[in-house]
Amino acid sequence: MIKMQNVKKTYPNGVQALNGIDLQIDPGEFVYLVGQSGAGKSTFTKLIFREETATSGEIYVSGKDLTKMKRRDVPYLRREIGVVYQDFKLLPKMTIYENVAFALEVVEETPRNMRKRVMEVLDQVGLKNKARFIPDELSGGEQQRVAIARAIANYPKLLIADEPTGNLDPDTSWEIMKILEEINASGTTIIMATHSKEIVNTIKRRVIAIEDGLIVRDQHRGDYGYEA
Ligand code: ADP
Ligand code: ADP
Repeated sequence: MIKMQNVKKTYPNGVQALNGIDLQIDPGEFVYLVGQSGAGKSTFTKLIFREETATSGEIYVSGKDLTKMKRRDVPYLRREIGVVYQDFKLLPKMTIYENVAFALEVVEETPRNMRKRVMEVLDQVGLKNKARFIPDELSGGEQQRVAIARAIANYPKLLIADEPTGNLDPDTSWEIMKILEEINASGTTIIMATHSKEIVNTIKRRVIAIEDGLIVRDQHRGDYGYEA
């Protein structure tokens, strides 16, 4: 699914965010990305989504060589990747339905198929009955579920979740994890950056720890490994 070889990223201001990342993530894996703030986790996920480009090294995502990818091909890559953020990033003036439908409008869908798919993913996250609401009328956990529905609407092979439970209380966080686990069980690869010691130590998965732009630990069914 993802392969990186000696990937380095230096920002224009000279900050070396990634200093030589080597890794492989296979289809269907669930990977936690841990490490302190500033370690390079977001830069890592941004490279996969091609929001940033590597300074050197090789990156393959879903069989595509990102270092050789032309700008016009980036949308095709992004269609295969869903992204969920800590702060949800829903469009505040649009309804829940529209927030999800918006993600589908990019791909040519018939109106009928689109409606069907929007309601299907809203049902999957338990929010079919809130389709007409706007984000402000929903709790944080519900808003994150909408963001997840939007992220999976196009059947992505890969879901990147950047601290998806960072703004949520523990109970709500577990609900979100349950949904992410279901999505993973259906075959979608998940990379989740997190600071939650409880989640990582309870739902055991592969753990990749990044420090100062390097992978310092890569464990099958690993621990969080830092103080919470
Ligand atoms: P994390 O997600 O683990 O907190 P980041 O990837 O956001 O880490 O940041 C890694 C390093 O790169 C930090 O020193 C951060 O300040 C720096 N950085 C991140 N984004 C940018 C940017 N757009 N321009 C310059 N420096 C950046
Ligand atoms: P920003 O990029 O400043 O966060 P935008 O208004 O561009 O704000 O996007 C808000 C949210 O809507 C983001 O989460 C973004 O991923 C999503 N978004 C933007 N454009 C599209 C689009 N064409 N299809 C699906 N989602 C989109």
